[in-house]
Amino acid sequence: MPINKASLLVLESFVRQRGAKGEKKLRVIFLGPPGSGKGTQASCLSEKFGIPQISTGDILREAVTNKTGLGIKAKEYMNKGELVPDEVIIGIIRDRVVQTDCENGFILDGFPRTVVQAESFDEMTKEKNIPVDVVLSLDVSEELVVRRLCGRMVCKECGNNYHTEFNLPKKKGICSRCEGKLYHRPDDEEDVVRQRLKVYKETTEPLVDYYRQKGLLSVINGEDEISNIFNQLVNVLEGVREN
Ligand SMILES: [Zn+2]
Repeated sequence: MPINKASLLVLESFVRQRGAKGEKKLRVIFLGPPGSGKGTQASCLSEKFGIPQISTGDILREAVTNKTGLGIKAKEYMNKGELVPDEVIIGIIRDRVVQTDCENGFILDGFPRTVVQAESFDEMTKEKNIPVDVVLSLDVSEELVVRRLCGRMVCKECGNNYHTEFNLPKKKGICSRCEGKLYHRPDDEEDVVRQRLKVYKETTEPLVDYYRQKGLLSVINGEDEISNIFNQLVNVLEGVREN
């Protein structure tokens, strides 16, 4: 990920100065299908703007590890192989977004996942007076997502990632770093990937319209070069912050 360190430092101090004058916060929801590159971009934006990336998977695992009340509840469902219900997820998010590192904002990555979750998040942000400023949506065609996910290869030994089309190892089927054997993860099989995308389309994609109607949506072409996508996202967030 090509980020210029020097400009990053300048920007960070700039952001801090402006934040000190009671500048507008940056509360962001990041939408995009699996394989859209959303997680990587969210992590770079988090670094650039000095606000935490809140990934549902991560904070769920954290809550479970820390054995918080909600974490214990979540674990019961996970042990039974069931989906963690909305009210538990929302409770964990509610606890997270009021922590001190979220004072200048946050980037939600993987939440909300359904319109029901979005509605209760709306109520919560209204109640706590922490309104969402912008919803980013990375737009990638289903065919490209399938190509990206189905071509992934992982090293059995060191876990390094490769791609049969976009990131080839030096020797076919062999890790360039440790010479371990590469394998194809079962959840990257095409029928599994298509099933995941179908679930995303049915349950999460309606959020794009939901936030468009609220005037919060900003759509970015996720098929562009990774650095161009990042620059566009930065432009959107800087625009939001200045308004
Ligand atoms: Zn390896």
